[in-house]
Amino acid sequence: MRYDLIVLGAGPAGLAAAREAAEAGLSVALLDEQPRAGGQIYRDVERAAARRGDILGADYMHGIDLVRGIDTAGIRHMAGTVVWAIEEAAEGISVSCTREGRATQIHGARLLIATGALERPMPMPGWTLPGVMTAGAGQILLKASGMVARRAVLVGSGPLLYLIAAQMVRAGVPPLALVETQTREDFTGALRHLPGALRGWRYLLKGARMLAEIRRAGVVRYRGAREIAIEGGEAAEAVRFTAGGQAHRIACGTVLLHHGVVPNTQAARSIGIAHRWDRAQRAFLPQCDAWGATEQPGIWMAGDGTGIGGAKQAEIAGRLAALDIACAAGKITTGDRDLRAVPLRRASRGELAARPFLDAAYPPYAGALRPEDAVTICRCEEISAGDIRAYARLGCLGPNQAKAFGRPGMGPCQGRYCGLTVTALLAEAHGRSEDETGYYRIRAPIKPVTLGELAQMQEGEGFAPIQGETH
Ligand SMILES: Cc1cc2nc3c(=O)[nH]c(=O)nc-3n(C[C@H](O)[C@H](O)[C@H](O)COP(=O)(O)OP(=O)(O)OC[C@H]3O[C@@H](n4cnc5c(N)ncnc54)[C@H](O)[C@@H]3O)c2cc1C
Repeated sequence: MRYDLIVLGAGPAGLAAAREAAEAGLSVALLDEQPRAGGQIYRDVERAAARRGDILGADYMHGIDLVRGIDTAGIRHMAGTVVWAIEEAAEGISVSCTREGRATQIHGARLLIATGALERPMPMPGWTLPGVMTAGAGQILLKASGMVARRAVLVGSGPLLYLIAAQMVRAGVPPLALVETQTREDFTGALRHLPGALRGWRYLLKGARMLAEIRRAGVVRYRGAREIAIEGGEAAEAVRFTAGGQAHRIACGTVLLHHGVVPNTQAARSIGIAHRWDRAQRAFLPQCDAWGATEQPGIWMAGDGTGIGGAKQAEIAGRLAALDIACAAGKITTGDRDLRAVPLRRASRGELAARPFLDAAYPPYAGALRPEDAVTICRCEEISAGDIRAYARLGCLGPNQAKAFGRPGMGPCQGRYCGLTVTALLAEAHGRSEDETGYYRIRAPIKPVTLGELAQMQEGEGFAPIQGETH
């Protein structure tokens, strides 16, 4: 079967787009590697909401309606499907993926890439020790398994750090401390965006409420933390840092790192969509128009993968892209598309209003953007920041060239966790911009695929519904 639309990613953007497109009469294949729809924010929402809705909060519960949209006629949701290659094909797009240990190809006339965001890597001394993980990974344990890290210290900056701390408080296992890296100067600098942010006052109010919850639970907060290092022998034992002119050491069992999220650009890059450096978000963003259409015929993008805007904005962007796709497919007129987009665009302006303020007030930790020499930055191939600087001294100009020097970005994650750091280090070494320095050229497979899975490859869908699975 050839679908009118393949949607890659069943987070808020992909779910909203799939529903809008199906309601317009398109046949939609919705692919996601997760076992259940919802994406990062609404991970496992249908199961977890009943058990832990009070801990995860009202925003999380909103995901239930969105996830139920996959029952709309015309949508085929293929969960547990890892997409590892995207290619142009005769009259459309062909997506190679694996499910249940078997590779297959799905064909569509159009593709919407809605692969969301990744946590920005936070390389610092000790970050590869057992017991250190991203705060998002800690939250995944809570959402999917009802587990909360004991004796944990949260390190980094940003609204998600507060959300996770507040969820830990509600779960009855508050973190020992918040070691925050943003400074008073960051906040003062962000004030120029305050008038805009006041239009997004709901986000500011939410933040204030979370901080009040954290404070009531007696969680100690340190701001402007610098010289952060995680100590430990076999595993993390303590976080060391300076803040307020004083040295601190907090003994702990788990360290949860987070300093913002960045677009997950692997799928888009693998098919050649152009990206540009965005100074405010300190990340590469794919080039698409106001509907999410890329310069590649038949390919649209939506959600945090196009720039960080949050879950509600991702939902709106998914719907806008679906309207444009429905129009391109001849299911609705241009006039219909534009009319239906009006309230969505208005809502979008509200959702994005607070973003410049948040980006400026909670910048990523400078010490992790350009780590010291001894810090491992490519975990797959065990390459340090010093190695990258040494390649630069030998004349290496960009991340692709660096692969030939020492294989950074060539391990199983294909550069997802070191790409931005390698770009930053090489840009700094040569005094060039991030756009001039560039990023890894991403090629298939964008996710690991085994020879066994390839050997089982079938033409066509090759998927049978799992027994007892409803979607
Ligand atoms: C770890 C983490 C936790 C977060 N938690 C929260 C939170 O609690 N509250 C909040 O407001 N915001 C949270 N965010 C931010 C939030 O993710 C976004 O604002 C929102 O989810 C963006 O929606 P989206 O549809 O663009 O992408 P996502 O929700 O990220 O959905 C993208 C989907 O694409 C799928 N995907 C990606 N690549 C492939 C592939 N190759 N093959 C198959 N599937 C693929 C992923 O499995 C994922 O389900 C979190 C972000 C991260 C990274």
